[in-house]
Amino acid sequence: MTSVLWLRRDLRLRDHPALHEAAKRGPVAALFVLDQRLLAPAGDPRLAFLYRTLRALDGQLREHGGRLLVRRGNPVVEVPKAAREAAAESVHVSADFGPYGRQRDEAVEQALGDIALVRTGSPYAVAPGRVRKQDGTPFKVYTPFYRAWEQHGWRAPASVIAGRVEWHAELAGVDIPDEPSLPAGLALPEPGEDAALAAWRAYRKAALAAYAEVRNRPDLDRTSHMSVYLKWGCVHPRTLLADLGPDDEVFRREIAWREFYASVLYDWPESARSYFQPALAKMTYAPADTKAFRAWQEGRTGYPIVDAGMRQLLAQGWMHNRVRMIVASFLVKDLHIEWQHGARHFMQHLVDADLASNQHGWQWTAGTGTDASPYYRIFNPITQGLKFDPDGDYVRRFVPELRGVAGKAAHEPWDLGDDRAADYPERIVDHALERTVALDRYNAVRG
Ligand code: FAD
Repeated sequence: MTSVLWLRRDLRLRDHPALHEAAKRGPVAALFVLDQRLLAPAGDPRLAFLYRTLRALDGQLREHGGRLLVRRGNPVVEVPKAAREAAAESVHVSADFGPYGRQRDEAVEQALGDIALVRTGSPYAVAPGRVRKQDGTPFKVYTPFYRAWEQHGWRAPASVIAGRVEWHAELAGVDIPDEPSLPAGLALPEPGEDAALAAWRAYRKAALAAYAEVRNRPDLDRTSHMSVYLKWGCVHPRTLLADLGPDDEVFRREIAWREFYASVLYDWPESARSYFQPALAKMTYAPADTKAFRAWQEGRTGYPIVDAGMRQLLAQGWMHNRVRMIVASFLVKDLHIEWQHGARHFMQHLVDADLASNQHGWQWTAGTGTDASPYYRIFNPITQGLKFDPDGDYVRRFVPELRGVAGKAAHEPWDLGDDRAADYPERIVDHALERTVALDRYNAVRG
């Protein structure tokens, strides 16, 4: 019996429970649908990375006598169509727990009629919704979630079977699209599963042991960069978790943040757009269609660590976690612009854009999310810069105007007097002043 493996955020062949399930039943046709609902909000770097990843996957499949069938359109139409053409009796997926994915899959299931939609595995070590408090309700706070998640545990990675699968490769599809032209100098990570596993092996060997010590230092750039691969499922988090030892607790905790946010979004799908803690929705905010917002987007606020982060986002489609927090805090608490505007900009430009981690990362920083940093804890962009980029190397890497400023002085170019970098922008706001404005706005809704 032929089956269809409909791939979405699981673009790999190893550690793939849905592939195992499909292969048990006979020949497997591997399908990817170019769905405009998911493609439209993605910026060019994410699209380019996706298309390269699809090419890499197609290459892997061809090595085993298969190929990737690509269709374009609404999955509710395209998946049943491909399944009927393949005379498939079942369509196999890794379950999607996001708000759009769940609805889409239910609609596809309906449209498939007699053909079964079989969900096996998910993009997470533990499927969202599985880890619950003793009374059966979902966790809203990370630390108890983490303990329960660890206690729940997860399966070992699934065995490798791609070479033993009988691939069904007869159907006609469309070509993987040509990639959009990218900004000059933009370098994306190597695409695909083999590259993800090689990057992970290299990271484990060279840097994992020092993760806890240096993970907050954007200048050193020693985090794993696995987020891009996890986003598309080029590697399953279980594969990473299986390689961790007792000394890697801090890294495991970070993987658990991804699982926590996916769980929270599963239980509160509306938290993708609206305030997890509604009290702060009543706060007054500045409009987003302003020069200040554009200066933030383009990395021209006059605060070096903020500008370096925003330019890293445009240059690499990625930003260091510490700096994501700093720039998010700056938008919400120095420019008084609602977090959703910043979250949308991130979703467009991040190659690792993930609705759960992004929206909740923003809500956390804005003080409106799950066990959020309280609103009144306002990041100071200067002291954050001096602490986490102590020699100014990160700032100089992304802000060429400051390359002539040595050492930590790059964080306070306005102190250089006549020597200041003339082409670097003036500060668009006064942090000390905006901090008091933010606190006043907060106190006004605290009741
Ligand atoms: P590492 O430090 O090596 O961590 C390993 C893995 O753990 C990451 O790949 C990621 O999967 C997970 N992880 C680490 N930190 C977090 C975290 N705070 N929340 C959730 N998962 C985490 N992450 C995304 O994957 N996509 C996003 O769209 C996204 N948007 C964010 C927006 C804001 C405002 C903030 C503050 C954080 C956001 N994060 C997002 C979380 C985090 O910044 C990135 O996962 C991390 O920087 C990716 O780099 P890395 O793979 O080198 O991380």
